[in-house]
Amino acid sequence: MRYLILSDIHANWEALEAVLWSAAGLYEQTICCGDLIGYGPEPNLVVEWVRANVKRQVRGNHDKAAVGLENLEWFNPVAKTAAEWTANELTAENREYVKQLPKGPLEVESFQIAHGSPLDEDEYLFGTVEVGQAFAYLERDVTFFGHTHVQGGFALGGGRIRVLAGPGRERTYSVLDLDPDDAYLINPGAVGQPRDADPRAAYAVYDTDLRLVEYHRQEYDVAAVQDKIRRAGLPDLLATRLALGH
Ligand code: ZN
Repeated sequence: MRYLILSDIHANWEALEAVLWSAAGLYEQTICCGDLIGYGPEPNLVVEWVRANVKRQVRGNHDKAAVGLENLEWFNPVAKTAAEWTANELTAENREYVKQLPKGPLEVESFQIAHGSPLDEDEYLFGTVEVGQAFAYLERDVTFFGHTHVQGGFALGGGRIRVLAGPGRERTYSVLDLDPDDAYLINPGAVGQPRDADPRAAYAVYDTDLRLVEYHRQEYDVAAVQDKIRRAGLPDLLATRLALGH
């Protein structure tokens, strides 16, 4: 089976549309590692698309925040303002859908998905200490996660952790051939708010038969989203950061 792996869409409809155009024909089912909403200006369009098209998904911290399942005091002022705006914007049906999104990790065929870490949905997997702990408790040799908005992830083999990277700025995709002896924590990158210094929308495609992961980047109409963010009255920082990719 070939899966389209999405994470951190963050109510960015233009980025999601561009990813779907770019990935057309490459996959059979779609998986999402959380944060459908928060920050971006189109929460209802994104949630409705996910409801209709995504096979399995877990909730992210911004999903929880927008439906009253998270204490907003933990959020920075920009994220808090965006969460309150999103809560107000969501239709009753979409709010109910977001509320019932499962907590990760969630098993899907031979792999699992999580938002932050498989050990804690809100933990950021950045450094080797947290990553080492996560590897020690993995129940599957391949886990997809999000939350950091950094495409790539980590591999564990021969007692060493390797940092994985996406295709880089000059290319639109790269391929990772999974070694059957190694374990993987793979981040497809953020569709709607990349923070790895590359503003292009990020996603991954996983072929479970061939054990190949493709990392992809796709340009989209950043200016259109910035315009919507400003017209919605959301914090300006949310518009400017999209063009910078951080
Ligand atoms: Zn996120």
